[in-house]
Amino acid sequence: MARSEQLSTSVTGSRRLYRVDGTPRPVGLIGNPVKHSLSPFFQAAAFTYYKLPHHYQKWEIAREEFAPFLEQALSDDFLGLNVTLPFKQAAWSSAVTRSQEAEVTRAANTLLPDDTGKLWTCHNTDIAGFLAAGLEAGWNPSDAKVLLLGAGGAARAAVYALARAGAAEIVIANRTLARAEQLVNDLSLYFPTTRLLPAPLEPSAWDFSSVPRTLVVNASSQALLEPEAPLLCAPEVMAGRLAGKDTLFYDLVYGETPFLQAALDSGFPALDGLPMLVYQGAISFELWTGLVAPRRQMLAAARAGLSERVRARTTK
Ligand code: NAP
Repeated sequence: MARSEQLSTSVTGSRRLYRVDGTPRPVGLIGNPVKHSLSPFFQAAAFTYYKLPHHYQKWEIAREEFAPFLEQALSDDFLGLNVTLPFKQAAWSSAVTRSQEAEVTRAANTLLPDDTGKLWTCHNTDIAGFLAAGLEAGWNPSDAKVLLLGAGGAARAAVYALARAGAAEIVIANRTLARAEQLVNDLSLYFPTTRLLPAPLEPSAWDFSSVPRTLVVNASSQALLEPEAPLLCAPEVMAGRLAGKDTLFYDLVYGETPFLQAALDSGFPALDGLPMLVYQGAISFELWTGLVAPRRQMLAAARAGLSERVRARTTK
């Protein structure tokens, strides 16, 4: 079996959880911004489930701090890291060993030291997280016709997951068309039976309207970065011509997002990014610890964390 395939297996047998001095090996999330992240809530639930003393931390770092941070983390004997935007490609570049998913998507959200403790291994668990959440929602990816909004790291994970699961066609619509084209160039080689089509972020330019979508995925960070801006593509614009009544609208952002709400208001089934977030984190936990992640407890903790945050926002 190729090294990359071995790395795709989540539960790898028990790993060393403590430093030589008996303290827990550090673990957490790096990115910018990370303040909004729910990961500490549900990762804490997983460590608590196993009665482990590890404290999952968040580090918001500037671009120039990324490489020195990783170097220091190896010296400090870290258990592992989650990596979020804008560092997923940098995480990929920093690792010497990569899972097949990370290799193909050129993006990684999970890092762990290799056996020598001197180099990083990377994985992209967004792919399995995205697919697991979609399947759980009852959606069948086989022969699907997909419209994907966005062409960043999350979009790459979605394309990999969908194409691997047998989607027939994925239109990748992005503000920066060249980035969508690059995504298509990079991934179409690996998935010759799925049609990947780049498109501008402009419904009037979409020429696939005679074949309505069965899935619409929002993989753009617009709502996170510009919460007041209008939706990139409103679900009601798609009703009838671009989307049928059973079309699933899948927002990778979590919570009651404007995209999710608009889809529900237009009568479409809709799924937010919370289950994906938890499942990608569950696989990261398994890679770091070699333990089976308690997904049910993690999901409940994430939901409680989100409710707490919504309550805090509305009582301000
Ligand atoms: P990324 O690599 O930075 O890509 C961002 C994408 O959003 C790009 O396609 C970008 O278009 C687009 N975008 C940003 N602002 C825009 C605007 N004002 N108008 C139009 N398009 C805009 O980020 P990412 O890692 O792919 O993450 C994307 C989103 O998915 C984030 O909201 C993230 O929180 C979410 N996500 C969720 C999960 C989960 O587990 N639920 C996992 C990963 C990501 P350009 O190329 O034109 O800049």
